Amino acid sequence: MKLNRKLVVLALSCAYASVALAGAVKESSDSVYKPTGKGWGELDLDAQSHAQKAATLRAQRSGNLTNQGGPVMTGPKNVYYIWYGSWDAASKNVLTNLGTHIGGSPYFNINTTYTNKAGTHVQNVVNYASSATDSGSLGTQLSDANIQTIVSNQITAGALPLDPNGIYFVLTDKNTTATSGFCTQYCGWHTNATINGQDIKYAFIGNPETQCASSCGASTPSPNNTPGADAMASILSHEMEETTTDPDGNAWYALSNGMENGDKCAWNFGATSTASNGATYNQTIGTMKYLIQQNWTLLPTQACAQHYP
Ligand SMILES: [Zn+2]
Repeated sequence: MKLNRKLVVLALSCAYASVALAGAVKESSDSVYKPTGKGWGELDLDAQSHAQKAATLRAQRSGNLTNQGGPVMTGPKNVYYIWYGSWDAASKNVLTNLGTHIGGSPYFNINTTYTNKAGTHVQNVVNYASSATDSGSLGTQLSDANIQTIVSNQITAGALPLDPNGIYFVLTDKNTTATSGFCTQYCGWHTNATINGQDIKYAFIGNPETQCASSCGASTPSPNNTPGADAMASILSHEMEETTTDPDGNAWYALSNGMENGDKCAWNFGATSTASNGATYNQTIGTMKYLIQQNWTLLPTQACAQHYP
């Protein structure tokens, strides 16, 4: 598939492996697509509204997901945050509340429509396990290798456990960027790597507040008046659900274009409400409001959904 490489952005990305070429999904030798690199390049839609983006992206996203047989994180997942750079308490609270309460939510329950190869369904269980802080040990221009190092440093130092059932989120502050394409090719990504002998799943979640509110931000005003963290809530949810159903890049994705569940519904928020501060939101997780993209459900038919059932 040839995409117009005017590309820039936006899909809060997917997938797998640090296979370079950030951006567009590559064509494989058997002419189907696999999740690769840093997500899915998209046409430059910056000038469009979010609703227009969603409609355009939906049109590009044909193809149902199938299970290619790789591992699925069916059991309880343990979430670890690494606060990279400088973070204020209110912003941290927005993302900590999300991590604490997304498990068990009707939204995350969408993932229970997915099974592993043996037919075991994903459980709607996410434990917010712990967090660690890296005040900026590798500077503000992070390579993909740097991001893995940030994770492995915390594990090796004992600040976070070595947990194959964990999902480690590197949450960067508003002054930090990722040099393989944050803001232009992706807003976040997930991958896995062998760290200290275990298959460790981790994700980069960029803070678009001052760097690219137009391409990776979600709404203004934002539901909790923390624009960076509020935007990251949707990106983080995207990467969490993709990591759950396609942790190693070889389970649930669309053969036609390499999209994972989160990719199928990026920028597609569904029905929304208006909060007292004027913000648009569509989810209440714990006691807080969020504007979070929908996720791809397999039941009753494959489609974007805000909740399941
Ligand atoms: Zn994605």
